[in-house]
Amino acid sequence: MKTSRFKKMLLVAALTLPTSLLALPVAQIKTQAPGYYRMMLGNFEITALLDGTATLSMDSLLQGASVETIKRLLAAQSLSTQVETPINTYLVNTGTHLILVDTGAGSLFGDAGGHLLANLRASGYSPEQIDTVLLTHIHSDHIGGLSSNGKPTFVNATVYVNKKDADHWLDPANLAQSKGEAHSGFQQAIDALQPIVSAGKLKTFNGETQLFPGITAIPAAGHTPGHTLYQFEDSGQKLLAWGDLVHSTAVQMTQPEVTISFDWKGAEAEKSREKILRDAALNHEWIAGAHHAFPGIGHVMRVANKDNHPAYQWIPANYSLAGLKP
Ligand SMILES: [Zn+2]
Repeated sequence: MKTSRFKKMLLVAALTLPTSLLALPVAQIKTQAPGYYRMMLGNFEITALLDGTATLSMDSLLQGASVETIKRLLAAQSLSTQVETPINTYLVNTGTHLILVDTGAGSLFGDAGGHLLANLRASGYSPEQIDTVLLTHIHSDHIGGLSSNGKPTFVNATVYVNKKDADHWLDPANLAQSKGEAHSGFQQAIDALQPIVSAGKLKTFNGETQLFPGITAIPAAGHTPGHTLYQFEDSGQKLLAWGDLVHSTAVQMTQPEVTISFDWKGAEAEKSREKILRDAALNHEWIAGAHHAFPGIGHVMRVANKDNHPAYQWIPANYSLAGLKP
């Protein structure tokens, strides 16, 4: 009797102590879920694969709107001017081909990129299984994962790129004439692509080209000379992997006329973006974008005009498990 009363007193005492004195340390894990997300497009299996995230200073990189406007549009999405921007790639299993759209940054962005292979494996595939790589364009965050130490990463893959981009980025004269950041861009392009060229695995195309049944390359120049979108179509469903058509979802969907300093020719990039956004909203096809919040898959909706310009909204895909059921 005495002991149980004593226990009760202890319990009362414990319950009245501040919780901070009772709490035992619990180690925090601080890792993210593996970077892959899967959906079906007819009989095509689409897997979004994250390569990493890079923080971009949108107030200094975006052009064609005042800093005030850029800040306001970012704030409307609870973002500051420093936007953690994903590097998304896409794996398409058609049943007969395993196709990777873009290859991430490899080692070029330090730890901010280069996680594609880990996420590919986490998603159930290995790099040797990939038979085709489609490049939207030749920029470090899309080609960095192509080779490592002078050897192709995807040893069984043929790499496709628009001839205009290959001609521009692999031209030794452009490398020789350029300086600073531009020079590094040309050097990185040569370093990443030369092993593919040497292996006889680089294939170029001109203009709109059907590469495989249900897979079409659609040039949309401006960001680079041969910036290209890839449309996947099966059983009446379409998905457009649009590469770098949009870098800032918060700003460029509302104001498509806003360009980014990475653009080769801003005015052309703007024209391409306006046309593709208009078509995407009309067709209501799936979009997969390299720099929209992971998995970067969604739809485009046209909203009210702004100053006589059409404005758009990005509608991210609704997370789905049911969509993968046979
Ligand atoms: Zn990019």
